[in-house]
Amino acid sequence: MKALKGIGVANGIAIGKALLILDEDTVVFDEVVGDSGVEREIEAFRSAVDMAKSQIRAIKDRVKDKIGEEHAFIFDTHILLLEDRTLVNETVNYITKNKCNAAWAFSEVLMNLLKEFSALGDSYFVERGNDLKDVGKRVLKILRGAKEFGFTNLQNDVIIIGSDFGPSNITRFDKPHIKGFASDVGAQTTHTAIIAKALELPAVVGLHDVSKRVNSGDTIILDSFAGKVFVNPNTETLEKYQKLMTIYDEEKAGYRKEIRKPAVSLDGLEIELLANIELPNEADGALENGAQGIGLYRTEFLFLKHSPELPTEAIHYETYCELAEKLGDRPLTIRTLDLGGDKFFHRTFRREKEANPVMGLRGVRLCLARSDIFRDQLRAVLRAAHKYRNIRIMFPLLSGVKEWHSVKAYMHKVMDEMREEGTEFREDPKLGAMIEVPSAAMVSDFLAAEMDFFSIGTNDLLQYFLAIDRANDDVSYLYDPFHPGFVRLLSFIIEAANRHGIDVSCCGEMASSPLYASLLIKLGLRRLSMNPASLPIIHHMIRSLDFVKLENLVPATESVGPTGPKTRAAFREALKTMLTANDYQSLIGEYADD
Ligand code: PEP
Ligand code: MG
Repeated sequence: MKALKGIGVANGIAIGKALLILDEDTVVFDEVVGDSGVEREIEAFRSAVDMAKSQIRAIKDRVKDKIGEEHAFIFDTHILLLEDRTLVNETVNYITKNKCNAAWAFSEVLMNLLKEFSALGDSYFVERGNDLKDVGKRVLKILRGAKEFGFTNLQNDVIIIGSDFGPSNITRFDKPHIKGFASDVGAQTTHTAIIAKALELPAVVGLHDVSKRVNSGDTIILDSFAGKVFVNPNTETLEKYQKLMTIYDEEKAGYRKEIRKPAVSLDGLEIELLANIELPNEADGALENGAQGIGLYRTEFLFLKHSPELPTEAIHYETYCELAEKLGDRPLTIRTLDLGGDKFFHRTFRREKEANPVMGLRGVRLCLARSDIFRDQLRAVLRAAHKYRNIRIMFPLLSGVKEWHSVKAYMHKVMDEMREEGTEFREDPKLGAMIEVPSAAMVSDFLAAEMDFFSIGTNDLLQYFLAIDRANDDVSYLYDPFHPGFVRLLSFIIEAANRHGIDVSCCGEMASSPLYASLLIKLGLRRLSMNPASLPIIHHMIRSLDFVKLENLVPATESVGPTGPKTRAAFREALKTMLTANDYQSLIGEYADD
């Protein structure tokens, strides 16, 4: 049995036989075609591009029907890449100059472009490079006359294994016998990951060499909670996971049925459950899963959707109004642009490579540096908040009071402008800070005096606090929300907010993990915001626990000392006594990393 560790995407457990998909179809050779063959090859190339475009259009329509229009825009980007003059003209020139076959010319041009993209280094180009690879493979397959594998005749459950899957591949995985996929390459924020989550297809990506370590026919267990892949597991592991998979699927279906019941713990703690969304149409699923509002709308995706153009003020405004309308009285927390760092990059913000982008120009820093773009978003959100009182505005990556004052001053300048021109806007919007930089956390008592609400962004706060790049496997063993220093920091923020009587929630991934969410509640949080799929799970966890029984497990702030790991073990033990065996396995899991 081999156990491989990668990055889990779209939670779930899947078991099946490996189906290895390698890119043999795209291997090309240099063939001399001579003067007489040049026109023919150019013609073959142009029609391959046309065919690739119509295939992508068909995929786009399928995605639109299946998971909604908002996800389909990814494929517009692919069509645009195939219309890129550099790609097309350079290939035609290469064929003419070298009198070679179209496939060779195209793959040479493609490789050069990919090298240039990767040399630029920032995430925007990494993402565009992935898109380019995806469309490139499609054109090469057409040129080689290779058929797309339809997966229609699969008789048994399979797990697809490969080096790198583009988003268009993933849409083809939407078949009853395809239970999940694993790949060498990948990360949480790629288009591939977004589509996998939308299709609820368990996946483990970023495994480095899974395509070399697995053969077709091997038995595979995919545990995307823990980001683990087991190859040819022993009987004991297989039986354990078969049981876990059945339990997980059955329990999850049960949790969904009780979602309308109040999220109140056995000892009477009432918890507000909110959703994090990236795309406006995710709000429907969030409401179906019982969300009491949107705790985090990541507006960067609106920018991505319109890339290479910027969303206009009108687009921002319409999007926010539509969403606010859909939510009725429920709160809608619109987070201003948080691009940069490890986030998707937008062509407009293209600039020299930064040595440490995660510590560079991102979040409100980028907004202040590009105030022209910030202005359009602020105007739109202030106007929308005038019409819809449920809108709240939240600012990402604030480092402290001074930076907040710069943001506020800029917002007031925009307000003055709107007042002068007679545009209606909300004079007293509810303003919140994401607490995700340790310096802001340490002055959260001062910030609380000036803000209407806080949301703790534990993904970034942990990364910066523990000095571990959240995308670096080598240091992931240090990731520990139970770190006593971190527990102390969380208590400090929550107490500061409570003392000033402002709302405080957590919208980091911690809120969607039952084990960590129970710690947050024990520390005093009464509002949690998470990906919509996790809502029924956390809802069930809250209803099953008596938080009084977790008393004394979190040492008083002053004496947290070195007791972190003990706290975690004590939590697990205490939860075990309160949950049924099946609930414990589905919510906490023996398989979760300790
Ligand atoms: C966070 O940092 O915890 C957070 C919710 O923001 P994002 O994941 O978008 O950086
Ligand atoms: Mg963040």
